[in-house]
Amino acid sequence: MASVVNNVVAAVANASNDEAVCGICLDALDRKRSVTLKPCNHQFHRTCALQWAESVRPDIDRPCCLCRSSVREMVGRNGRRVVRSYPFEEEELDMKRQVLEGLLNEGDSFLISLNNTRDQIRKMLKESEIERAIAEKQRQPDEYVVDIDQEGAKLEKRKHAIDNLLEYGATITALGDAATVACAISRELEALNRSNSDLASEEEDGHYAAEQSHNEDTDSDSDSGSEEEIR
Ligand SMILES: [Zn+2]
Ligand SMILES: [Zn+2]
Repeated sequence: MASVVNNVVAAVANASNDEAVCGICLDALDRKRSVTLKPCNHQFHRTCALQWAESVRPDIDRPCCLCRSSVREMVGRNGRRVVRSYPFEEEELDMKRQVLEGLLNEGDSFLISLNNTRDQIRKMLKESEIERAIAEKQRQPDEYVVDIDQEGAKLEKRKHAIDNLLEYGATITALGDAATVACAISRELEALNRSNSDLASEEEDGHYAAEQSHNEDTDSDSDSGSEEEIR
């Protein structure tokens, strides 16, 4: 294992700037967009580096996969910081669980931070559109453009997932006061646990507690807390 790393380090060190390689996939660096890790200044393909960053837990220090020094940030060619977007490759049930547990632990601020993540992804999507236009103008190879498109598709997918999660979170918080919401959350979590174990054995019983359509009857009577004044 160490010898592989040494070979990569040697390959990266030997290559001149023109023929530098990505230390993760070992392809020429200029075939796709690249990022520089700070402060060690090692360069990788942007998508390779992001994929690697997502495999590492966000709450621990990420060591550079080449030199193991801890990474403070990732910087793109334009000098701007590259952040990993919220990974959403998980199963739908797990994502619902994240929302429920987030609401339980952080309340509304969980939804606010999810909203911020969505804004961030929107911004990244706009940036990748610009990058794509520049790449075409510069007549970059197909591979370079495909790399941008693939990241764009991934970001779209995540944005869509967050849209769904925000909607799901909103239906739960709209149920009423804190106690009602907490009650609903534990019911939902129980249902998730049930369907998780059901999925393991048989696939039939995949019902979520929050079925989408019960908007025909009760038109949300806002049970206004009739607050009596205490004298
Ligand atoms: Zn690479
Ligand atoms: Zn490094």
